[in-house]
Amino acid sequence: MSVERTLSIIKPDGVEKNLIGEIYGRFEKAGLEIVAARMLHLSQEQAEGFYAVHKERPFYNDLVNYMRSGPVVVQVLEGESAVSKHRELLGATNPDDADPGTIRKDFAASIEENVVHGSDGTDTAAEEIAFFFGDDGVCPRTR
Ligand code: GDP
Repeated sequence: MSVERTLSIIKPDGVEKNLIGEIYGRFEKAGLEIVAARMLHLSQEQAEGFYAVHKERPFYNDLVNYMRSGPVVVQVLEGESAVSKHRELLGATNPDDADPGTIRKDFAASIEENVVHGSDGTDTAAEEIAFFFGDDGVCPRTR
């Protein structure tokens, strides 16, 4: 086990449903520390760039439109095995397949509108953190 950082997004449906505090509470109760956070409304360029890996997928345009449908809250979480721990809290992409007690099982409406994003590996996490917070946008805990 080692201390990792991961990139987490509360998507527009999660913000609309007023779940920011509920979701932050789950992260904190699981021992993850928020070391960067910001709210923003993604530009077309940002949404397309963030999901560029899915460019050839049939749902790409819908995904970009969904991610631009309202503001999002983006955070960096730090802790032991943060990448996998965070993904466990989110649950499977499709809420129908998600385990009970996960964020997506509890709150997601569909495979698309699934409330949250989480990096799927430490390399992806580093890229996604830099995408939103640059080189110096993370605030290490000093106490
Ligand atoms: P994640 O890592 O669990 O977020 O899943 P993926 O990286 O595979 O997909 C990225 C996002 O695209 C998901 O979180 C959903 O919002 C959306 N998505 C994934 N699969 C589908 C699909 O089959 N249809 C639609 N409409 N959206 C999807």
